[in-house]
Amino acid sequence: MTEDNRIRSIVIVGGGTAGWMTAATFSRILGSQYANITLIESDEIGIIGVGEATIPQMATFNRMLGLDENQFVRETKGSFKLGIQFVDWGRVGHTYFHPFGKYGLDMQGVSFHAYFLRLHELGEAPDIDAFSLQAQAARGNKFMRAIDAGNSPLSDIAYAFHFDAGLYAKFLRRYAEERGVVRREGRVVDVKLRGHDGFVQSVVMQDGTEVEADLFVDCSGFRGLIIEQALKAGYTDWSHYLPCDRAIAVPCASVDEWTPYTRCTARKAGWQWRIPLQHRIGNGHVFSSKYMSDDEATAILLANLDGEPLADPRTVPFRTGHRNKLWVKNCVAMGLAGGFLEPLESTAIWLIQSGLSRFLTMFPDRGFNQADIDRFNRIMTTDYEEIRDFLILHYHATERSDSPFWDYCRTMEIPERLAEKMRVFRSHGRCFRENEELFNDTSWFAVMHGQLMKAQSHDPVADVMSLGETRSRLAHIREAIANSADYMPRHRDFIRQNCAA
Ligand SMILES: Cc1cc2nc3c(=O)[nH]c(=O)nc-3n(C[C@H](O)[C@H](O)[C@H](O)COP(=O)(O)OP(=O)(O)OC[C@H]3O[C@@H](n4cnc5c(N)ncnc54)[C@H](O)[C@@H]3O)c2cc1C
Repeated sequence: MTEDNRIRSIVIVGGGTAGWMTAATFSRILGSQYANITLIESDEIGIIGVGEATIPQMATFNRMLGLDENQFVRETKGSFKLGIQFVDWGRVGHTYFHPFGKYGLDMQGVSFHAYFLRLHELGEAPDIDAFSLQAQAARGNKFMRAIDAGNSPLSDIAYAFHFDAGLYAKFLRRYAEERGVVRREGRVVDVKLRGHDGFVQSVVMQDGTEVEADLFVDCSGFRGLIIEQALKAGYTDWSHYLPCDRAIAVPCASVDEWTPYTRCTARKAGWQWRIPLQHRIGNGHVFSSKYMSDDEATAILLANLDGEPLADPRTVPFRTGHRNKLWVKNCVAMGLAGGFLEPLESTAIWLIQSGLSRFLTMFPDRGFNQADIDRFNRIMTTDYEEIRDFLILHYHATERSDSPFWDYCRTMEIPERLAEKMRVFRSHGRCFRENEELFNDTSWFAVMHGQLMKAQSHDPVADVMSLGETRSRLAHIREAIANSADYMPRHRDFIRQNCAA
């Protein structure tokens, strides 16, 4: 590449979580000397503002930006998250926990789940949560960061965050502006394409000004202002696999105990989230409009809040799927402009993060080589597909037959890749992480076991250890985890001492 062919100007359209995460990342990695970075957003249109729960990779993103984590939690009025509690999913009345981190300890090259299932089959290890520090701490509303404690479980505590999405965008905005990103307020009303090759030449503002750039990042939310409306990327619709298509969101007053986990409670035609922040609890009811009306969904949501509602309920329609191509010519889409998988496992913000890191590894010059673009699009599609399959599992592997919605989910056709994972689990309880997929074997195990799937028998390789030895090692792990959870401070006290808003 010659210096002259370098990208000199970048325009980001949209100032929601995706826009400001992009601006912050580019300003950190590329710096303002590399290219002029402009972000356009419209206060009049506003942001979606409902992405409040994350997964542990968020801490890596914060570290990449060099953020002080306590300051980040304080300024976004956030809290810590050790996993997700799933209520009424496998069957009504049944609860399980999908923890971050690993269960127990792999031993002699054999995964911990295999040993657990061996004892579980004998009725001796009823509770998988006993082997996860995150699950035990969550149960007691405890939290702390890992400390240097040798072999103790306290040396390795995986966690993520809950935060106020509006405050997060403001926080990142300050960060990006300090590093040279220029913000322009106003509405984009048109996108101009170059006549000879169809690349984006400029975006046109309401006052008639044209803003040109070498590279455009579409972070305009569901509307996909450039990627779809101008470049016609097309959309792969997955609503037959994930039939929820609406959410009603409402914050409510906080309660005394700040639970260090997200709760997802299955309802008749979808599910309800509960996300505790320092100043309020975020709630929402995600449901399928084919099986439930907005009024009924709102009534169910309002009847199941911990405290007084703090605002009017807001309806957010969505369509599960992704753009056929997230990168077209000189425009790449991040966030909701690129696609959306419902928030059951809090993966949308991670998809922005992975989109940014994958885009930076394929960062273009002004030649915009098609091979780079194709590779990016292929990898991002795989990211979406792998998460999609994990989400479908929660709906499909259920005993629920109490509503037409659950009958549909339980009996629907599923992608072959997921069907194979389920067959393999049912055989010997084995779970695998495929290639670079986001969710690891612990997550797959947590949800398959949690959704009441049964293996015909345990992994025969677990028999490398005698039954006596297996009992004694698992008892030891369980005890170490219980002691560690006891040692941890209450979540609320930890926040008070370190990062109270
Ligand atoms: C119901 C629901 C719950 C969710 N929960 C979670 C969660 O728990 N965890 C998680 O990780 N993610 C969650 N998400 C996803 C998360 O909210 C989004 O991924 C994230 O907020 C990114 O949004 P965005 O920036 O792409 O879009 P938006 O927030 O919609 O931002 C779009 C931006 O584009 C600007 N814009 C649009 N059109 C124009 C125009 N013509 N001119 C100028 N500016 C324009 C807007 O002003 C705004 O600044 C959830 C999403 C939904 C719908």
